[in-house]
Amino acid sequence: MSETAQASAAPTSIQSEIARRRTFAIISHPDAGKTTLTERILRAGGAIQLAGNVRAKGERRRTKSDWMGIERDRGISVVTSVMTFEYGDCVFNLLDTPGHEDFSEDTYRTLTAVDCAIMVIDAAKGIEARTRKLFEICRLRDIPIVTFINKMDREAQDSFALLDEIASTLALDTSPATWPVGRAAQFVGTYDIRTRELHGPAKELPQSDPRMVALSEELELVEAALPPFDREAFDAGHLTPVFFGSAMKEIGVTDLLDALVAYGPAPRAQPSESREVKADEGQVTALIFKIQANMDPNHRDRMAFARVCSGRLTRGMRLRHVRTGKQFALHTPQFFFARDRQLAEEAFGGDVVGIPNHGTLRIGDTLSESEDLRFTGVPHFAPEILRRVRLDDAMKAKKLRQALVELAEEGVVQLFRPQDGLPPIVGVVGTLQLDVLQSRLKGEYGVSIGFESTPFTMARWITGDRAKVEAFAMTNRSSMADDLDGDPVFLSSSAFMMRRTVEMNPDLAFHDIKQIG
Ligand code: GDP
Repeated sequence: MSETAQASAAPTSIQSEIARRRTFAIISHPDAGKTTLTERILRAGGAIQLAGNVRAKGERRRTKSDWMGIERDRGISVVTSVMTFEYGDCVFNLLDTPGHEDFSEDTYRTLTAVDCAIMVIDAAKGIEARTRKLFEICRLRDIPIVTFINKMDREAQDSFALLDEIASTLALDTSPATWPVGRAAQFVGTYDIRTRELHGPAKELPQSDPRMVALSEELELVEAALPPFDREAFDAGHLTPVFFGSAMKEIGVTDLLDALVAYGPAPRAQPSESREVKADEGQVTALIFKIQANMDPNHRDRMAFARVCSGRLTRGMRLRHVRTGKQFALHTPQFFFARDRQLAEEAFGGDVVGIPNHGTLRIGDTLSESEDLRFTGVPHFAPEILRRVRLDDAMKAKKLRQALVELAEEGVVQLFRPQDGLPPIVGVVGTLQLDVLQSRLKGEYGVSIGFESTPFTMARWITGDRAKVEAFAMTNRSSMADDLDGDPVFLSSSAFMMRRTVEMNPDLAFHDIKQIG
């Protein structure tokens, strides 16, 4: 196929399918109401019958034991990574992100696969630390943000003050899409600024009700002081439409979904090494952004989650696995719903499907129908914690090696093999990852390990002229390791040492982020 044919547009029927995809994640500080909102959204989408049964307490991964509990739950219900449902005329894919900041790398990768994020804010607390951090990740990729100010049924900050806070702390323009009617215990619904309609129980209020009187005064201020919705600014990530509501009382939830139906965003273009791939191109391309094992306790499976970046994927299709150059047959791509999964006979640009495999697919991999392209943007971060793995039973060394590779491929930890032949080092961003590694090695592979400290506190990927990299590795052997892909990594005992090394080796580049793919 020629270059032009490869980048040609899909037929209109496929384009219209792609245009009705909405792929998003919810970002928030713990306790702002993400779990509750997720349940209500799925219920509105008909994906679950009763609110409250998405999972026990999905985001409360604050302690080790809680987290392990969640892992167990995860074996039973397959809800964690993606939930697909229909609402209005659209197909929604809601991608879950771990709540605990120790899993931030996972969150970052998931956010590379969405077209939009809902930022949930607690109306009493305003912008909190983790919201801001997650927002910054979205901003790096100009992901459009929809804001949901939650818990309006409780004492809240002044609505104008909240909008001001968003604008000033995040440097993001705000445009209220709805306005709350009543506050705290008197909160009865929302007013849609665009259609001028009341939603929820507020519809029943007489004009003389004090809440309606207050509403019309506030609306005058809103109109005078705040910008109207600007689609382009929203798409570029510069302006956020703001919704008010109460996830718990199910007020304002469908306002959010209706807005996503009305103004998207539809699947966006995905960057690759050679060019941007538009969602409505004819050829099928997909990006693996997450691997999850043990979703079904009855058979040890391993699921790669792929975002379909363009075209129409069909079951049975053979795609090129670009990293290895081999063909990969899609026998059983799957859609995930709140409680179960189903074979995906077809999926379109923007959709997220699970692809069962036994370790062929890795995070960052590209699948492509024809063109030899590699998607970018899925990163590995240099770990901040480095530990040597101590094996309790020396007979299990081989098993440990294999298990560490598999778990590193899943993104549980990063694996470094020291070039001096000493036992492997694992690197993590947060210590909870170490707990998970230890518990999974024991539970799934029957291997008990402990961790020993290393002299190292930093890791940097090295690139440069091959001979120069090798010469550097020779002279720094006890500080060199190979990562999972065999790429060289320099380990340093301090920031000072690292700076010195960088200064003394101007021909080499030291990276704290590795783009995979
Ligand atoms: P997450 O940690 O962000 O997932 O937050 P949850 O959804 O678990 O909510 C945290 C707490 O806030 C729980 O006790 C919820 O019942 C409560 N909550 C969530 N949404 C609302 C709301 O709209 N109003 C009130 N009053 N409480 C809420």
